[in-house]
Amino acid sequence: MTKPRTKTDTATDLTTGPTRRDALRLLGTAGALAAAAPLASAQTAAPAPAAPTAMNGNGFYRQKIGDMTVTVISDGTTPLAALLPTWGANPDRQAEFMATLAEYSVAATDTVNHFNPVLVELDGKRILIDTGRGGANGQLVANMRRAGIEPDTVSVVFITHGHGDHIGGLTTAGKPTFANAQHVMGEAEFNFWATQANPNDAVKNNLIALKDQFKLIQPGQEIVPGLTTVATPGHTLNHLSVLAQSAGQGIMILGDAGGHFLISLKHRGAYVGFDTNGDQAAQTRQEIFDRIVNGKLWVTGYHFPFHAIGHLRRLGEGSYEFEPTVWNWS
Ligand SMILES: [Zn+2]
Repeated sequence: MTKPRTKTDTATDLTTGPTRRDALRLLGTAGALAAAAPLASAQTAAPAPAAPTAMNGNGFYRQKIGDMTVTVISDGTTPLAALLPTWGANPDRQAEFMATLAEYSVAATDTVNHFNPVLVELDGKRILIDTGRGGANGQLVANMRRAGIEPDTVSVVFITHGHGDHIGGLTTAGKPTFANAQHVMGEAEFNFWATQANPNDAVKNNLIALKDQFKLIQPGQEIVPGLTTVATPGHTLNHLSVLAQSAGQGIMILGDAGGHFLISLKHRGAYVGFDTNGDQAAQTRQEIFDRIVNGKLWVTGYHFPFHAIGHLRRLGEGSYEFEPTVWNWS
């Protein structure tokens, strides 16, 4: 929009404009009037574009926990035509799950699936847990940059399990996305995927392609001081979550051991369509949710709705609820 010219604008013209004023004089009155309009709009358009903001919510959400900065970095979302049966797959419990969605006003159709990799900053290291989908859909690197973090400053990448939406961002155009990072994954999980007779493209392009760069570790082993793997089998048979602790506080980074933020928590025995062993996944969820509540841990789930970080509370025996933390803009 063009605003009326002010005395200040005119003063600016006088300090910067002899050449321009001379040019206008040469154009004559009509030319000067015609030229004045673009001059005025050029002045109102003068403020520089806003610098990229690091305000929370611009694709990422950071939270101080002890001495750690934990940043959930969205890899974006994908459309989800129907939540059920994928996110609550028990065939005999569909009506029960549908009733819960209605009770909580959570859309059952025409919704989205979220992807939430997590970056932990501790003791000068940046540890990324899972890497999103990669390719044209992957938003992790763009959103990481919005948070002021360059991919080549990531010290360690840890992978919870070998599904494509967790490993797809490991490489970009055939090269490691996190060029200076040590790559870490559970040994049994890595080997399950990397030794298949016909591995899928995501496994080929990301796990097998980077196999010489992976350090393979065990359940309960440290990734770096402060971050320890936790065996959470069932979603995949060797799935590992991450417990990050600092200064008496901690967060359980569930990966896909969390399942769905409402159905998997509220309904004991519920499993997800992508769980390799649904019964085992449901049992694991009970144990890990119980541990999170008893330990007063923070929690984040990979497919929980962004900002995807908060706490759990126990509703009753074997039934839990996710409480997203109160939003903080910084
Ligand atoms: Zn997943």
